[in-house]
Amino acid sequence: MSNQEMVEKLRQRGYITSKKIEEAMLSVDRAIFIKNSFPYEDTPYPVGMGQTISAPSVVAFMLEHLDVERGMKVLEIGTGSGYNTVLLSYLVGSGGHVISIEKISELHGIAKKNLAKYNFSQNIELYIGDGSCGYEEQAPYDRIIVTAAMPNLDKIHPFVIQLKEDGKIVAPVGSRLYQDLIVYEKKTNTSRKILPVMFVPLIGKYGFQ
Ligand code: SAM
Repeated sequence: MSNQEMVEKLRQRGYITSKKIEEAMLSVDRAIFIKNSFPYEDTPYPVGMGQTISAPSVVAFMLEHLDVERGMKVLEIGTGSGYNTVLLSYLVGSGGHVISIEKISELHGIAKKNLAKYNFSQNIELYIGDGSCGYEEQAPYDRIIVTAAMPNLDKIHPFVIQLKEDGKIVAPVGSRLYQDLIVYEKKTNTSRKILPVMFVPLIGKYGFQ
């Protein structure tokens, strides 16, 4: 299977519904981020340090619901391999900005190397730290995407405080083992469950211990 075939399958199965997500996923080769002979399978894979890159169907589904537009400022929690970071970079374009935080310094280093292969990565800033507190220095954000499981999200959570009034968050919220992917809208202070999922835990002050 090729990257193009992977994207076509995701489109046929309804995970990709928009032209912009299709174009982004066609432009970013998943094989760059995975040391494995089957990089285009719809499955999560280890990326080192006990962490994973999510299945491409989940990545596509989250991005469709995040509703990113060109020029936006997006905060990503959990850089991992950097795959989703580069997709976000493509979606916000040169006038936009992606800030991504990773807790494990070895993965931050791996993502940095992977990102160097894409010339549209000038709009990305990578940081090492506890992303469960968000990243106050660059707030407010148009969008926040969380790629590790978090226990709860309410209106006094740092992610919500660091979000613009018309901003959205997509995050897996629930227990350490099972979560629901939710879309949170600040304007209405509402969360909508969109998919049952299993993510690795967000470890930190506002995550799990
Ligand atoms: N988005 C990544 C990709 O495309 O490869 C996959 C992310 S992986 C499912 C979740 C990541 O969250 C792991 O790399 C993990 O180390 C990171 N993580 C866990 N707790 C964190 C925290 N408090 N702050 C930042 N990153 C954290």
